[in-house]
Amino acid sequence: MMIKTKIVATVGPASRDVPILTKLVKAGVDVFRINFSHGTLDEHEQILKNIRRVSNDLGEPLAVIADLCGPKIRVGKVCDGGALLEKGAEIIIQRKPVVGNAKRISTTLPELIDRVRKGQKIRLDDGKIELEIIRSASAKGDKILCRVVTGGILSSGKGINLPKTNLALSALTQKDRADAKWIAQRDFDYVALSFVQKSADVKALRKILVGAGSEARIVAKIEKPQAVKNIDAIIAAADGILVARGDMGVEMSLPEVPLVQKRLARLCAETGKSCIIATQMLETMTDNPIPTRAEVSDVANAILDGTDAVMLSGETAIGKYPERAVRMMNSIASRTERYLDEVRSDRRMRRHFKQALSELDESGHGRKSRRAGDRIPDDLLAIARATHALVTSETVRAVVTFTLSGNTARALSKMRLPVPILALTPSERAMQQACLSYGVCARRVKMFEHTREILPVAAREIRRLRWARKGDKIAVVSGRPLRKAGTINTLVVHTL
Ligand code: PGA
Ligand code: MN
Repeated sequence: MMIKTKIVATVGPASRDVPILTKLVKAGVDVFRINFSHGTLDEHEQILKNIRRVSNDLGEPLAVIADLCGPKIRVGKVCDGGALLEKGAEIIIQRKPVVGNAKRISTTLPELIDRVRKGQKIRLDDGKIELEIIRSASAKGDKILCRVVTGGILSSGKGINLPKTNLALSALTQKDRADAKWIAQRDFDYVALSFVQKSADVKALRKILVGAGSEARIVAKIEKPQAVKNIDAIIAAADGILVARGDMGVEMSLPEVPLVQKRLARLCAETGKSCIIATQMLETMTDNPIPTRAEVSDVANAILDGTDAVMLSGETAIGKYPERAVRMMNSIASRTERYLDEVRSDRRMRRHFKQALSELDESGHGRKSRRAGDRIPDDLLAIARATHALVTSETVRAVVTFTLSGNTARALSKMRLPVPILALTPSERAMQQACLSYGVCARRVKMFEHTREILPVAAREIRRLRWARKGDKIAVVSGRPLRKAGTINTLVVHTL
């Protein structure tokens, strides 16, 4: 049976070619992320082409996320193999770009040098390395001097965070604006926006994308305390969020991270927005064939928190075991989903896990939140709830929906149904975007004129997917008139 949790894999040097991309899709990847913080536009274009070729060859729709770098400050180029920064040693950060080594490095934000003071801490590579400034720049200085507080190996492009420093940088840099225009003209399904602080950041990106004719959906990366503060408005403006625990763990105190994750997953369930939980999920597998127990727990818990997707970063981008990491994630998802289905159907277990389950189940029903009503239209919410009631009381094997924009599939996805959802859509974009929604499998069909045309196609696809056999029941959610987006008003049970 299909794994309902979606797996996002970051593409990098370890995974950019067709043979490995093919293996990753076969191992369970639904969505690929191209990180615009590294590489050139030509390289991104080639990766996108490779992904689409693999998708075509395997007959598997895939979503692609373009992840804008945002005002993330990064280390400049560093010599091959990285530079070993030893505790207690001194290191220069200089304005002029340099191929970095243990004595001097440069940064993608040269003005940084003017904005920091002696005594401040600088964190590198998600906080793994820490420096303290021992001499700030003089009036026309072109460098600062730091002492290594926590050492490590530093490689090109690693992030720089300045905790407690507000640099007042816009979430959309000049580079992001140019990249967004380039992205809008290509086959990307999602654009992720880094270091979002307020809803205006999301709106500014939306303006660029829509202005360039793109239908890409926007994922706001939540990694700053300001974003958590403004979360309601940000979620309302965006189509989904990414819980970016890497920078979040440097910008906030680490023990806040799991709690923020739970809250964000819950908000997405209530508002019908997509949720991706990301960073260090199977970090150990970057260099090792097996993960730690804590990492396995983390992936399972993210699914229990109600996320749509879990993400791999370095594990697939630069790791030694990209395919194994995807397989591991897939098997954790499989086991966790089986548990959820068992608990839901076993009365004694249900009682035992009542609290946790009622939170999970109710989050998708919009009962506790008025926001859900704001985001998922009432009629759609009503049909989605009716579908939930139906599939939990009757032995329905699958839910099928005909959807133009993908909205119906997303509303059904948020119900976290115990059965899979087949989304039939004439829109290639909607089909690809659906690859990020929990429990949804999308297929492209021609534009139907009548609801009666849906059934034979649905029956054929469902048998092909082996979700149901002759004599089994399926539920079909659609609307009349079919051509009009936003008209969902019928729920019918069919026997195959
Ligand atoms: P990044 O985002 O990999 O682009 O930094 C993820 C994170 O910060 O967790
Ligand atoms: Mn980040």
